[in-house]
Amino acid sequence: MTEAPRTIRVDASDNVAIVVNSGGLPAGTVLSDGLVLREPVPQAHKVALEDLAEGAPIRRYGQVIGTALRSIAKGSWINETMVRLPTAPDFADLPLATARPATQPPLEGYSFEGFRNPDGSAGTKNLLGISTSVQCVAGVVDHAVKRIKDELLPRFPNVDDVIALNHAYGCGVAINAPNAVVPIRTLQNLALNPNLGGAVMIVALGCEKLQPERLLPAAGAAASFDDSGIVRLQDDAHQGFGDMVGAIMTMAEKRLVQLDKRRRVTCPASDLVVGLQCGGSDAFSGLTANPAVGYAADLLVRAGATVMFSEVTEVRDAIHLLTPRAADVEVARALIREMDWYDRYLAAGDADRSANPSPGNKTGGLSNVVEKALGSIVKSGTSPIVEVLSPGQRATRKGLIYAATPASDFICGTLQLASGMNIEVFTTGRGTPYGLAMAPVVKVATRTALARQWHDLMDVDAGRIATGTATIEDVGWELFKLIIEVASGRKKTWADHWGIHNALTLFNPAPVT
Ligand code: CA
Repeated sequence: MTEAPRTIRVDASDNVAIVVNSGGLPAGTVLSDGLVLREPVPQAHKVALEDLAEGAPIRRYGQVIGTALRSIAKGSWINETMVRLPTAPDFADLPLATARPATQPPLEGYSFEGFRNPDGSAGTKNLLGISTSVQCVAGVVDHAVKRIKDELLPRFPNVDDVIALNHAYGCGVAINAPNAVVPIRTLQNLALNPNLGGAVMIVALGCEKLQPERLLPAAGAAASFDDSGIVRLQDDAHQGFGDMVGAIMTMAEKRLVQLDKRRRVTCPASDLVVGLQCGGSDAFSGLTANPAVGYAADLLVRAGATVMFSEVTEVRDAIHLLTPRAADVEVARALIREMDWYDRYLAAGDADRSANPSPGNKTGGLSNVVEKALGSIVKSGTSPIVEVLSPGQRATRKGLIYAATPASDFICGTLQLASGMNIEVFTTGRGTPYGLAMAPVVKVATRTALARQWHDLMDVDAGRIATGTATIEDVGWELFKLIIEVASGRKKTWADHWGIHNALTLFNPAPVT
């Protein structure tokens, strides 16, 4: 039996619909409203619902995603070569905090089992993190971490893992250039991530530009930071490699003793700091996974949690839909400030506005960055935006936050960790095995075919929304409850099950020397 043809139109004003059937639909297919396809249309791609003259606006999500580069007959496949990319919304006439959403009723009674930290935050994991001041030490630290895992960790069963915070920064960089504040505060704040329990240690070389003292957080932020938490490989005391590794292991053992005393305790859901991200998006992202994540985001905000969404380049073209949702004019201006900073950053590098979406995004039916952005911001749900963070800043508010980051999965994830994220939700249509060592990553597939094919990598199948076997609300609640299970250590994400962890990747907009 062949599957009935299914298409989805989001808004009544849309003149395109998305093909749901896996494998797409053949020419001659009669849709439920009688429209006949003039040619085959791949899954997740757009079909024209009306005749479009050259220059006519193409509407999806009730918004213009571009104009027709040539006339397009009703029933045709609209691919990225037929859509003219509109210019990004101008900052000058954006509405500021004009449509602040009403506060939704609190959602009470939800908690998770987490590790309480001295600074009041809560971890979803109990990790020993070893910070590094410069890439030069990475090989030694990796060697030491392997030995710590083999020889020490088995004696400390309440510690989940030992991780090295390796990175490519620290020397050979313009350390005092204004934009160097971004990678430096990212490293400082990564060390304060709730999942590291305030017990981070630093391995330094000695001669690097980023002296380890500069990695120490502002006074009072973490009482456990003192010089006893630093090993310098160039110290006179170390006679060779064996001594260096020994010093790191001695320091690690002291920290492991402290961390091992900790137990999970009941923490209110308001201690969750949930990062939202997408990668390998397709045209289903904005129909299935991202709306379900948006629904879960609203539930989390109602439960008092912090939820951060990010990825400037995938928000920029939908900024006119976000500035009205700011809690106040200052927050709206901060949104524009971050978009404007990034516009200038991209312009300085002569970035091509058509470089995003990726080839895979286009194969997945996304014509351009406008369509991608409209689908991307759906993740943020409907709450007011209460705070805007520059890259790598720590969150200070509960509720929905915009944490400005590049869209690069690894850089975004790293910056969200620096902002205090203790669990991440990641949506994907094309599929990516992405994971982070420092926080669990719950992966949500936009299509059932992907969820089935990658059955041991995807945690949630949001494709059921497109096929009508689950609602956005169903998947949103499922995700909300899964976040609590994972945060409590009762369930493991597939990425953690397999130990798939991408490297930390710093955002360094300052010059390299
Ligand atoms: Ca991304």
